[in-house]
Amino acid sequence: MPELPEVEHTRRNLDTWLRGARLKEVTAHDPRVIRPAKPAAFSEALTGKKVATVERKGKWLRLLLDDDTRLFVHLGMTGWFEHSSGVDSSNPHRSANGDLVRFERVRFEVVKPRRTKSEVVSYVDPRRWGQLVLATEDIPSWTSLGPDPLADGVDLEVLEKRLARRKKQSIKEALMDQTVLAGVGNIQAIESLWKAKIDPRSGASAVAGQPKLLAKIARAIGWTIARTLEDLAKGEAGAKNPFKVYGRKGEPCPRCRTALERFDLGGRTTTVCPTCQRLVE
Ligand SMILES: [Zn+2]
Repeated sequence: MPELPEVEHTRRNLDTWLRGARLKEVTAHDPRVIRPAKPAAFSEALTGKKVATVERKGKWLRLLLDDDTRLFVHLGMTGWFEHSSGVDSSNPHRSANGDLVRFERVRFEVVKPRRTKSEVVSYVDPRRWGQLVLATEDIPSWTSLGPDPLADGVDLEVLEKRLARRKKQSIKEALMDQTVLAGVGNIQAIESLWKAKIDPRSGASAVAGQPKLLAKIARAIGWTIARTLEDLAKGEAGAKNPFKVYGRKGEPCPRCRTALERFDLGGRTTTVCPTCQRLVE
């Protein structure tokens, strides 16, 4: 599932492909991924418009168009964007007629500034759990998000206030709450807490009471996001597990060599080093 770094990687791609470009034609092949779920109206509202900015908050993207229309995008579990400067029949994602990208749900035919030739940006989503939401103002899914650790940085005072109220919740679950910090998902939370040497089961409010630990977590989140973004930029993510402890049950902790353990916390799989991650109560 895409987390903050993957969505930021997508934002940077879309910024290159779409910012300043005119949407010559927009085709929604599947109403299940668009809101409102009406392909003709969706296309009509976007066609002819120019993309002014491509922004991101947490796992949401916002494309602002030149008439103030907004297109919000959530990649769900399996969504991504592909770009092609023309039709390439050798691309395995294309069907036999060379026209349709496999699992393409929405196609944007765009013309970049000072160009005449169209390029194609496809929204691809095998399982269709992503969403492309058309709106004339910001939607609640966007406005309810907490600060984004990459775009806004982590304000320790704000974080402390938000965590202090959570008497019963674990620090890991609290970090994954999108109103606390936008974009931190399961993997980023696991990696950050390992880096900060804190057991994910520690109480959120107990951690909030220790400013030094909070600062450590904030630094660890920045470190985790930066590492993942570097891997994505190098094109190495996905080839093998690029993470330090996520998905590595039974393997030695990279810091102290103790075998890593795995358990469920709030319904999500969690990896922890039983030796060097301290439980804060
Ligand atoms: Zn360890």
